[in-house]
Parts: sequence; C-alpha cells; structure tokens
Amino acid sequence: RQQDSFKMENSAVTVAVRVRPFSAREKTEKASQVIFMNGQEMIVQHPESKQSYSFTYDFSFCSVDDGDPAFASQKTVYQTLAKPLLFRAFEGFNTCLFAYGQTGSGKSYTMMGFEEEAGVIPRFCQELFIKLASMCHVEMSYFEVYNEKIHDLLVTREEPHQRRMPLRVREHPVHGPYVAELSANVVSSYTDIKVGEPLGNKQRATAATGMNDKSSRSHSVFTLVMTQTKTEFVEGEEHDHSIISRINLVDLAGSERCNSAQTSGERLREGASINKSLLTLGKVISALSEQALTRKKVFTPYRESVLTWLLKESLGGNSKTAMIATVSPAGSNVEESLSTLRYAQQAR
Ligand code: ADP
Repeated sequence: RQQDSFKMENSAVTVAVRVRPFSAREKTEKASQVIFMNGQEMIVQHPESKQSYSFTYDFSFCSVDDGDPAFASQKTVYQTLAKPLLFRAFEGFNTCLFAYGQTGSGKSYTMMGFEEEAGVIPRFCQELFIKLASMCHVEMSYFEVYNEKIHDLLVTREEPHQRRMPLRVREHPVHGPYVAELSANVVSSYTDIKVGEPLGNKQRATAATGMNDKSSRSHSVFTLVMTQTKTEFVEGEEHDHSIISRINLVDLAGSERCNSAQTSGERLREGASINKSLLTLGKVISALSEQALTRKKVFTPYRESVLTWLLKESLGGNSKTAMIATVSPAGSNVEESLSTLRYAQQAR
C-alpha cells in the first residue's frame, strides 16, 4: 500500500486496469475466462495460441479466488485512483483521468455508473463539494469530441441548432488552448451538478449527427475548474490570491481498431480520427511518463489531435494524470483486451 502511494507521488501518470465481470451474454455463451492475476501480475492466456502474456500496472482491479473472480467495486476504484487526484486538485494541480478500452468493456460504468453503483464522476463531485471551503468557485463544462469536432453537451434541447454547431478551439496567450463559447455552469453543490450532468450525458452521441449509436465513437470530457481564493497577511496587509485547478474526467471513444476492410466513407473517417486521437494520447502520456522518469524535456505531440491539444495545460506541467483501462475477461475479446493492455503498459 505504501509503495502504491509512493508511485502516485513520483510519476506523472498512474495506470490501472479493471477487468469487468462476465456479461449476461458472455455467461450464456459460456465464455472462457482468459485474464487472471498472479500477485501484482496480470496474466492473459490466449485461448487459441495458448501463449501467455504478462503485464504489471500501478493497480490491477481483478482478483481470482478459486476460479471465482472477485471484482473491484466502484468505491474501490474511486478511492484508489480518483480520490488521490481530488487531493491533488485541492493542492492546485491540474488533473486528468481517462477511461480507455474497447466498447462494452466498462468505461462508462467506471466513469459514470448508475444510481446505486455510482462511478468516478458522481463520487468525485460529491466529495469535492464536501471538502470545498467557502472561498471557492467551481465551474462545470461537458463536451464531446467526435471526428475531431467539438460539441457542447450542456446546451439544452431547446437549442438544437446551437447543439449541432461544432465549437472552435482558440489559444489564449497565457492559459493555452480552450474551446470558444463552451458553456461553463457555475455549480455550488453536488445537486447543481446532478441537474446538469445527466442532461449532457443523454445528449452525448446524439449531439453531432442525431444518431444514437455514436457514443462509443466520441470522447466525452467532463471538466471542473475550481478556483480557491486564499487570504494571506503580508506585513499586516491582507492579500487574496487564487489557485486554479482544472479537473478533466474523460470517457474515451471505444478503442476497437477500425477494420479497414469493413469500413468506408463516414465510418472510415470516424475510425481514422479515433485512432489518431487515441494514438496521440498514448504518445503524449508516454512522453510525460518518460519526462517524469528522466527529468529531461521530452517532445510531447499535443498538437496532433484536438483532444490532446485541448488538454495540453492539464496534462503537462503542474499536473497529475491517471488512466484506467477497462477489459472484458472473455476469450472472445482476447485480441482487443491484449491491445488495450499493451496501450496501458506503454502509458506507464
Ligand atoms: P463502455 O462504456 O466501455 O462501452 P459500459 O460501461 O457501457 O462499456 O459497459 C458495458 C456493460 O457492462 C454495461 O451494461 C455495464 O453496466 C456493464 N459493466 C461494465 N463494467 C462493469 C463492472 N465492473 N461491474 C459490473 N458491470 C459492469
């Protein structure tokens, strides 16, 4: 346990993997389990080649007990991975948490969850407002990146025209890249967020084209900007200074590789832009890890995708980043799971 918190302190990026339980469908299909734990080591046994692969992460949420898998609860995932980021945010760090994985592997479950099985975002917001001092101001935004274009997820349904218009990315000389005209709702309690957030969530995916099945092909970015005002006394005089922390909780597009034989036109373009942003994110995160390790400046290709460009200020510099990679335990998904585990491995 001590070693785990030590890792969080010293590396730029913390990486966790979460294996979800079998789905009802996988159970009826009598799916075989191919992911196992051996201490801290995660082992994948390929059902066909019989080859086994070993991976190690900062945290692995999957334990196998007498063949009966016990899976980490929403609370455990929140407390291990997200809560430390909340503390960092109060210290003035910018923070990012990404959920990466194949569609259906548990990204949205991890980030949002349900009422009684609330995920990281609701738990994070709830705790943030419990800890919040009076001299604090919080603004919430929620947008999606689909085909390298940005759509506001907080614009109400009464404004369908506005909702479909992609927003522009601008660059502030001091504060860096930002989305122009993005809604930023001032929130002063968890209830304020609960009112706004599910609305945006429902609109996710339908924002860009009105089609429903797009959510797995867009990245959704939930952002809180927290401004803490602290008063200091210098030579008997009161001085206020502000600490601004940006918190980004990101549910990434499904990582399944776009099969070029089956895709053309719109789908191909979509697949290409998903690949580009996930690839760039991977490169940026591994550059940050290398930088933290070697303490030398490493080129970080933020500009290569809209997502990384927008998160530039939150990823580099005074910031803490974590990633949770989600995988299915089933043999039928082994290739996708291996590709997710490799992605997560190179991010560390
Ligand atoms: P994704 O966002 O990666 O496409 P979802 O989060 O929608 O995947 O998960 C797919 C299904 O699996 C959902 O019905 C979800 O409730 C369920 N699920 C995912 N992860 C877990 C988990 N750790 N425990 C229980 N159910 C899960």
